[in-house]
Amino acid sequence: MGPGPINADPRVLRAMSAGLIGQFDPAMTDYMGQTQELYRRVFQTRNEHTLLVDGTARAGIEAALFSLITPGDRVLVPIFGRFGGLLREICERAGAEVHVREIPWGTVFRPEQIAEAIAQTRPALVAMVHGDTSTTMLQPMDGLREICDRYGALLYTDVTASLGGNPFDQDELGIDAATAGLQKCLGGPSGSAPASFSPAAVERIGRRHSVEAGLRDPGQFPSEHRIRSNYFDLGMIFDYWGATRLNHHTEATSMLYAAHECARIIVTEGLAETIERHRVHGAAMHAGVLGLGLRDFGEAQYRMNNVVAVHIPEGVNGDAVRADMLTDFAIEIGTSFGPLHGKVWRIGTMGYNARRDTVLSTLAALESVLVRHGVSVPRSGGVEAALDSYRGAGNPA
Ligand SMILES: *Cc1c(COP(=O)(O)O)cnc(C)c1O
Repeated sequence: MGPGPINADPRVLRAMSAGLIGQFDPAMTDYMGQTQELYRRVFQTRNEHTLLVDGTARAGIEAALFSLITPGDRVLVPIFGRFGGLLREICERAGAEVHVREIPWGTVFRPEQIAEAIAQTRPALVAMVHGDTSTTMLQPMDGLREICDRYGALLYTDVTASLGGNPFDQDELGIDAATAGLQKCLGGPSGSAPASFSPAAVERIGRRHSVEAGLRDPGQFPSEHRIRSNYFDLGMIFDYWGATRLNHHTEATSMLYAAHECARIIVTEGLAETIERHRVHGAAMHAGVLGLGLRDFGEAQYRMNNVVAVHIPEGVNGDAVRADMLTDFAIEIGTSFGPLHGKVWRIGTMGYNARRDTVLSTLAALESVLVRHGVSVPRSGGVEAALDSYRGAGNPA
């Protein structure tokens, strides 16, 4: 019940145990096509270039940024948590001239702050996180497209922690590139990065290793590579997933099965229903921790549905509480990074773990552990507040 990774859905684990097939087996390419179509529905996009980058969420981020950035490009990175810092580092490694704007953890950017920063820096690319699990804040993205269009900037966002659990409509928001991972709201293991790219992003990336070049002289690669990575060269990855099926890497077959099943589960439940499930169980967990007398962290109206941060009570050893939760109840809750280290716990309700039984047992366990650590908490305060929250939401399972 931490900020991720979470328990994978048993259906995903089962899908991963299916037998392996060759990467150009028609069954395999058909499965890749199905996966692309499923993720178009999860990202809410018509982008043809919707696919998986093999690797953890960071692989998706790195592929997007290394491929979108030409060394020397100006890139704006608005930072409101730890993962914004990661985007900055990756942009720097990709050779960009990086400009950052930072705001206190627990807050989000107002559109006018971003508009002003874009006007000042005139970036070729704006890269920002959507939901940053380090602070539990969800950055509103409305209106950013229009601001970026004024200066011809592309817009990239990391939706690893938010996708599937919070509203995100890539086409409606006009996001050029979005990348995710399976181990948060999508309910799978880490190791595959679903990603989607707009026609403008695809044009920017270009087709370095174009179909014609590859077919004319297979094995001969241009001596000048704008994209300073082979594995994360999206031009090549597009050709691999596209009609030409030009060989690049060997698709990680078991992770493809996992990613396919994660999206199939969401599409079967319904994307809106999946997001609503995250909202309801997240709200119950939030009500529950308040019911235990704990204080929440950050701007309440911008909290993500799927993770809540609470202040560790004065005089309590946060790591000792986490250790007791894990040892005595087999429940993991999260610690924190940077300015929040030792100050807050982060408790998740995402993917397969966004359920009533997991929320209630986590709150009951936390009450018991807090009492043993000398914290005076309202008796059953957490469980009762969560049950009230569920009653208010029509008492879902
Ligand atoms: C969890 C998380 C990641 C994780 O990246 P991995 O490479 O899968 O560890 C990236 N971005 C955000 C915003 C996250 O919350």
